Amino acid sequence: MTKNRYDAIVIGAGPGGAPCAALLAKKGLKTLLIEQNNRAGGKAMTVSKKGFRYELWPVAGGPMYNSRFEEILKELDLESGLTTHEQHVALYYPDAQGAYQQLAMTRPEPDAPPNPEFMMNQMKWLGIDEAGMMEIAKFAVETGELTPYDIDQLDNVTLQEYLDRYNLPQSFFSLLGMQSNIVYVVPIDQLAASEFIKTSRDMTQNSAGYYSKGGYGRLFERCVEVFEKLGGEVVYQARAEKIMVEDGQITGVKTNKGTFSSPIVISNAGIQPTVLKLVGEEHFDKGYVNRIKDLVPSLGLMGIRYFLNKPFFKEGFNMAFSDNSYLNTERSLKIGAGEFPDEFLIFNTIPSNFDPELAPPGKQCVLTSTLCPADPDMENNQAFWDKIDESMDRIWPGFSECVEFKENYSTKHVSDLTRDQVLPGIGGECIGLGQVVGQCGKYKPSATAPVRGLFYVGCDAGGYGCGTHQAVDSAFNVAQIVEMYHQLH
Ligand SMILES: Cc1cc2nc3c(=O)[nH]c(=O)nc-3n(C[C@H](O)[C@H](O)[C@H](O)COP(=O)(O)OP(=O)(O)OC[C@H]3O[C@@H](n4cnc5c(N)ncnc54)[C@H](O)[C@@H]3O)c2cc1C
Repeated sequence: MTKNRYDAIVIGAGPGGAPCAALLAKKGLKTLLIEQNNRAGGKAMTVSKKGFRYELWPVAGGPMYNSRFEEILKELDLESGLTTHEQHVALYYPDAQGAYQQLAMTRPEPDAPPNPEFMMNQMKWLGIDEAGMMEIAKFAVETGELTPYDIDQLDNVTLQEYLDRYNLPQSFFSLLGMQSNIVYVVPIDQLAASEFIKTSRDMTQNSAGYYSKGGYGRLFERCVEVFEKLGGEVVYQARAEKIMVEDGQITGVKTNKGTFSSPIVISNAGIQPTVLKLVGEEHFDKGYVNRIKDLVPSLGLMGIRYFLNKPFFKEGFNMAFSDNSYLNTERSLKIGAGEFPDEFLIFNTIPSNFDPELAPPGKQCVLTSTLCPADPDMENNQAFWDKIDESMDRIWPGFSECVEFKENYSTKHVSDLTRDQVLPGIGGECIGLGQVVGQCGKYKPSATAPVRGLFYVGCDAGGYGCGTHQAVDSAFNVAQIVEMYHQLH
């Protein structure tokens, strides 16, 4: 039975879909939002257990100020709710004896001038001599002078190729390798230099390490609350099974909760699942299908949620890396084949250090991660979890003594929660489409699909930046494209 007719249907209430639906409702479109889970947030969803509220894995965002996060809250007349922590980030890098040493970073204000004392501490912590500092200064100045046009020319240059123009010290290169892995979740020798420079500039000028009061996923739940106030309809636990097409024109969506009719569908389900499964290859020309099949996902993350009987970490976000643990293509292939390096790149967030209400008094939840292939069918998950356990205690001695209970998660959990596996080895990706050369900037797939009335929203099309910020950027851009399409048709 076909239920009501809508101007637009959004599939998925992730960081892309939820704000996009709210923006469309605000623009006056009669909009339906279909979500397979029982709440909004997608990969950044917040859940509750035993008095804790937390994300299923470490999530913190950026830029914080002058960001798409601030913009969506303002656009939807919501109070900010954005929060951060004075000691929001700590980095860990090993000294000559292999003991990890901390560099604590206090939260900079927007457009704060460079802090020479902090920069000197950073150089000392990375063991960089005067010649190395001069080369880093040259790299920083020349990169800072690039115009938007210059940056666009770097869509097909990898970050590693860009950095190889300089003679940077290994420890500084490793720092940027770690950033490639944590912010974009791709190997440093695949990341598009344009994407890195644009996003790093945003974060340097406007601070990173943002979190949301009540849990990161609250931002997206709040978007859906406003969406409903604006007259939008939401159906949770509704799985889109088919996007219906007649004569090259979208006609609606078939779900386990009924069939809904609309000439416009905006899919947050991922570009590959949308084309290859929900719509079906037969509705696209072969060249387009092949291009979609060739798209490369970001890497995946897997890790452990630790619940502690006492607070252990003071900071909001901790990242530990070494010259051996950041990933390039060779290292990521080895990890996928079960050949682990001596050390893992480890990072974690502590939700209650951003918002104390998120843990029972005197307790702490620590969400940890390391990088792995995006494959949801990996067979050696236990080896990853064992190595993470070992790394946590080695980098932060005494940590394991505080653990009351823990839960493991893998790329299979990520895929089951948010993205169907439609091609071998893909589905458990952390970000969505990888921000790698050939599919970033002007090479990124268009948010307008070659079927009338079909659009993509989220990290696979329409935006740039770090994870959730990219998805919200896409929501703004795609809502504008859809509004125009709606008016013209
Ligand atoms: C372990 C991990 C750590 C991360 N850490 C960070 C971080 O620190 N900072 C950051 O910014 N980002 C982080 N990310 C990435 C970020 O969460 C994603 O990039 C972002 O959520 C992508 O948003 P999206 O809207 O494109 O898609 P998703 O978040 O995947 O949302 C898609 C939505 O569509 C729904 N859906 C899919 N298919 C269907 C269907 N057939 N029917 C109905 N509904 C459907 C899903 O249930 C989901 O709600 C992390 C991700 C992971 C996995």
